[in-house]
Amino acid sequence: MKFADAIGAAAEQGIGITVTEHWDYDYPTNPEAFIFDIDEYFARLRPLSSDEVLIGIEIGMQTHTAAEDKKVAQAHPFDYVLASIHCIGGRDLYEQTCYKGRTRQQIVEEFLHDAITCLEQERDFDAFAHIDYICRYWPYKGAERELRLQDAPELFDKLFLLLIEQNKPIEINTRRLDDAAAVAGLLPLYKRYRELGGKYCTLGSDAHYKEHVGRRLQEALALAAQAELTPVYFKARRMQIMEGLK
Ligand SMILES: [Zn+2]
Repeated sequence: MKFADAIGAAAEQGIGITVTEHWDYDYPTNPEAFIFDIDEYFARLRPLSSDEVLIGIEIGMQTHTAAEDKKVAQAHPFDYVLASIHCIGGRDLYEQTCYKGRTRQQIVEEFLHDAITCLEQERDFDAFAHIDYICRYWPYKGAERELRLQDAPELFDKLFLLLIEQNKPIEINTRRLDDAAAVAGLLPLYKRYRELGGKYCTLGSDAHYKEHVGRRLQEALALAAQAELTPVYFKARRMQIMEGLK
């Protein structure tokens, strides 16, 4: 997707946009796949940026990449740094081999342990992305497909408490919100985050094509309202309450 296309798609819908490119240091199978020239990124995006067009990055965390990840976040004047988990135990969640020879319970626990380890490290980010990323790719269907608090209540609580202590909003990622089972599975997670003291969420369309910019924003707002989370965005790394939401 071209920057201008993404920005144009947002403008057409009358919404603001934070552009985020992927940065995943030491990505398994292809360590260079999600590394790019950030100076060039700024040089190309800056002329297009405005109050409605902000510049961000999505940093894929792994337990051994904290120092590199922090360096990247701090070396450039991002508006927004979104932290995500695309890999656990040095394996890509996108690949089916990631799940081979392990039970669903082991995978859930490994994911939560890695996320918790990352959040206990010295890092620099603004919000935690797509908690349900794993549900897109793992081999489980039906009732087994969604993450459930009861899979690992203590680990979920630890993850949420770390985010809350660090004042980090949780992202509502709209990618899977066309699936009623996904929405039903996500709501208890967001509600628990709220119950433990979390107040804010960010909204991410996870668009990789211009057609997906702003997708299912209404569903995300409904989910935020149900979980009693206030949608925010970041400008110059400072949290801003989203206004003009309808
Ligand atoms: Zn991601």
